[in-house]
Amino acid sequence: MSADQAGQSASPIPLGVPAARRSLQAQVRWGERVVTVGGDAPVRVQSMTNTDTVDVIGTAIQVKELAIAGSELVRITVNTPEAAEAVPHIREQLDRMGVDVPLIGDFHYNGHRLLTEFPAMAAALSKYRINPGNVGKGDKRDRQFGQMIEAALRHDKPVRIGVNWGSLDQDLLAQLMDENARRATPWDARQVMYEALITSALDSAAYAVELGMNPAQVLISCKVSGVQDLIAVYRELAQRCSYPLHLGLTEAGMATKGTVASAAALAVLLQQGIGDTIRVSLTPQPGESRTQEVVIALEILQALGLRTFVPSVTACPGCGRTTSTTFQELAKQIDDFLRAQMPVWRAKYPGVETMKLAVMGCIVNGPGESKHADIGISLPGTGEAPAAPVFIDGEKALTLRGAGIADEFQTIVEQYIERRWGSVTAAH
Ligand code: SF4
Repeated sequence: MSADQAGQSASPIPLGVPAARRSLQAQVRWGERVVTVGGDAPVRVQSMTNTDTVDVIGTAIQVKELAIAGSELVRITVNTPEAAEAVPHIREQLDRMGVDVPLIGDFHYNGHRLLTEFPAMAAALSKYRINPGNVGKGDKRDRQFGQMIEAALRHDKPVRIGVNWGSLDQDLLAQLMDENARRATPWDARQVMYEALITSALDSAAYAVELGMNPAQVLISCKVSGVQDLIAVYRELAQRCSYPLHLGLTEAGMATKGTVASAAALAVLLQQGIGDTIRVSLTPQPGESRTQEVVIALEILQALGLRTFVPSVTACPGCGRTTSTTFQELAKQIDDFLRAQMPVWRAKYPGVETMKLAVMGCIVNGPGESKHADIGISLPGTGEAPAAPVFIDGEKALTLRGAGIADEFQTIVEQYIERRWGSVTAAH
């Protein structure tokens, strides 16, 4: 019987890897810090503050928190003259705190005036987000858009043409709707909306280039809040242009819904090589840290194998074979511990973020999964002897017993990290 007859392919199944991205590469700078976006640069993580920009200290603190969590670019609202006045002070405060994350100014309606009248603000920002749906109507539109581009050229800053279906250029939409009505077979209204989003972004980008912008310094986004709509729009956008693309499901929602919807949409596109920066637009739950949206963005990139930020902990879901919550608590303790240590470890142990741990609930998959990890522990399930074998580099190394298993396992992890990645620091 041949391989084909046996149901096996004659050639190996292609490896699961994301498609290569093909965009131009932008540079977003602050001081010595240069964040490359697009081309062969890693997919970048962005976030946005929700403080009042006028509150210099509050905003600077939140920007710092977002940067520490892993946000490589942070956007702030610049909506009033008072907010514009505050921006250079926020920048100074961040510089004093040693936080060099580039700041992006988010402009709507009055950006042309603010960027012209507050040059210190224009200089303190590293990129300007311009929404073509909110730059003005009629003959004011091009003039006011042009003023913002002139500011970008004067201060040598990249821009993002950020279209959003919640603030889509209504004149353009009406024009495309009229054209659609004259078609022999009119498109679906959603398809007209897709076209309007993309046309608004690309026409505005083309005008920015006409005014002198380097195309590589013009980023594009076309955000919508439906997963299938976002995928459809970005697939088309990626076909039609090579500008670096910022990706995000706008108004994703709260908690599980917002997380899952963002992950579903972004994963499909990133796997196809579409998207150079991402943001998860999560509505924080009351009392929840703003940094949660950054954590989710990092997890999406890490889950896709696009970037590695923090050691991964493989944990089984548990089932009727586990009679206690011990393994859940251990998995959580280890995960929390790794995340808390990463800001220090990242500098002290380069490469530690690639470490893989396994915390498993019983003998069924415990030893097997543990052997695939750098360090794994298989806790005893129902009816098993009260012992937890620990596997290091695929080999059973020791067995833990008693009430102190969690702390002992944590110590073993620390020792392993020091042994394996501590010497990397010494070599540097
Ligand atoms: S490893 Fe054991 S406890 Fe965990 S899900 Fe599988 S069978 Fe259940």
